[in-house]
Amino acid sequence: MDKLSAEQRHKNMAAIRGKNTKPEMIVRKGLWSRGFRYRLNSPRLPGHPDLVLKKYRTCIFVNGCFWHGHEGCSKIPQTNREFWEAKIRRNQERDIEEQKRLAEMGWHCITIWECELKPSKREDTLKSLVYTLNKIWLDDHRVNNGVYPAIEEESGSYLKAAEE
Ligand SMILES: [Zn+2]
Repeated sequence: MDKLSAEQRHKNMAAIRGKNTKPEMIVRKGLWSRGFRYRLNSPRLPGHPDLVLKKYRTCIFVNGCFWHGHEGCSKIPQTNREFWEAKIRRNQERDIEEQKRLAEMGWHCITIWECELKPSKREDTLKSLVYTLNKIWLDDHRVNNGVYPAIEEESGSYLKAAEE
């Protein structure tokens, strides 16, 4: 670390802290273009979720497979194996603990793994994310009101389809 220039160090720290990392940008752009609005890195919530969608009472974490120990996905280096295993295990435990606290506060938590955002999987991942968010919204409103809210734009075409 000491041999790094200030600029390199800054880059490394940014990568470690995960701000504006590429996988996160994919999720942000994907949701934004589909009309979802969110806040970033909310400092007041446990774990500082990458995206917070208040309307959906949902926190989204975009996790690097290595640092967060994605099961069966990332390989632990042979060198200093015990060190890395302990470190990653601590990260996993912290993730679980933070999501538990969020759940207690009434938030839904969604974790998206870096490997799910590879070009070949990206669209499916975003699609299923949107599906999950819509389901959360419907479930919340069903519990609160006892009925599904009317979906204005769609009702006309449903009727038409029924008539035909
Ligand atoms: Zn993975």
